[in-house]
Amino acid sequence: MNAEIISVGTELLLGAVVNTDTAIVARALSELGIDLMHTCVVGDNPRRLKEAVEGAIARSGLLIMTGGLGPTTDDLTKETTAAAAGKKLVLHEESLRRIENYFNEKHVSENQAKQAWLPEGCTVLQNDNGTAPGCAFQAENGCTIIMLPGPPSELAPMLDNYAVPYLKKSQEYTIVSHNVHIYGRGEAPVAQMMDDLMDSENPTLAPYANEGECYLRVTAKAPSHEEADQMCWPLIEEIKKRLGNFVYSVDVDSLEELVVKELSAQGKTLATAESCTGGLLSKRITDVSGSSGVFHMGVVTYANEAKEALLGVPREVLEQHGAVSEQTARAMAEGIVKRGGSDLGVGITGIAGPEGGTAEKPVGLIYIALSDGRDTWITKRSPIGRTKSRAWHRHCAASQALDM
Ligand code: ATP
Ligand code: MG
Repeated sequence: MNAEIISVGTELLLGAVVNTDTAIVARALSELGIDLMHTCVVGDNPRRLKEAVEGAIARSGLLIMTGGLGPTTDDLTKETTAAAAGKKLVLHEESLRRIENYFNEKHVSENQAKQAWLPEGCTVLQNDNGTAPGCAFQAENGCTIIMLPGPPSELAPMLDNYAVPYLKKSQEYTIVSHNVHIYGRGEAPVAQMMDDLMDSENPTLAPYANEGECYLRVTAKAPSHEEADQMCWPLIEEIKKRLGNFVYSVDVDSLEELVVKELSAQGKTLATAESCTGGLLSKRITDVSGSSGVFHMGVVTYANEAKEALLGVPREVLEQHGAVSEQTARAMAEGIVKRGGSDLGVGITGIAGPEGGTAEKPVGLIYIALSDGRDTWITKRSPIGRTKSRAWHRHCAASQALDM
């Protein structure tokens, strides 16, 4: 089945709102194994919306609409789409009760009540986080149409809880995907190493790049979930064999999640002492729910005096080798372990740029040290390729520390 998404809203055309709804729906379709062929954005204009919907119904088996289901006069999606699909709108009593309950009153305004008018014969997709219900129905030519509200906080759970199960019911196969996450090898060399596996049809293999990392998605299609899952694993094992340590996880979606998971499993705590990353490493770790069990503390010591006072980095080390040096990174990691009392400590120091580099110590040079209080390991990250941004160097430094 070929699918298409139409997102409605003038604010999207103005760039005032980023179209995350399309990305959320696209991801769900890909997980279902439904091929998405077109996406488009239309403003709150009935004539152009009608044109877009008619075109989509004529060429696609599935049309997903996002936005414009609300109570205001510029919310036209339902009226326009129902008309294009040859359906009348009828009052859905249960949705009206839900809207009344939501506002805690018997007589909601006409505009609010408008949201309970839905295409005749549709399956209502309940909105547990707002007032506008969604719906699913068939156009006269058999095209399935699903309408979801614009706010992502309403759309995402409605998609997961009601729209995806609705679509699954009509599929005679199940799709299972696993993501093999890779750090330290780029998408291009990874794809090259997997060249002979790329033609595989079931399971399929696809490479994706993602902010200094990449991952391979293995997807299989079979009548049952178990069969599809089993079909993925021989290919995953082959990828792991070829890439060795560059694979950091299967299905744990980020380095920080994996670090928190591993530390929890080993009952160990971590502290960070950051300079050029300015707290980014501790931010990424504490983004992970459950990190409080393993993350002890983080300090940002930017000035040499702070490195001395808070971490005990010896003044001679700073004077002799400079703040950006293997020796300083080591003293930072050892200092935070000793003073913070955690099992492991990380020290990061480097030149994030864009100014401040020298021939000897160029922008992008970063030292990372990891210490367990007895041994200390050092990684030197040298800048490669074209000049990258400050944000890039900081992100990569934090990633490399997590990888260590
Ligand atoms: P509401 O009941 O909130 O009016 P609605 O279904 O009518 O819901 P819209 O009026 O189109 O939705 O959009 C409401 C808000 O939802 C927008 O102001 C915007 O913040 C967000 N939104 C709408 N469409 C998108 C989109 N495609 N991606 C991300 N956010 C969106
Ligand atoms: Mg609206």
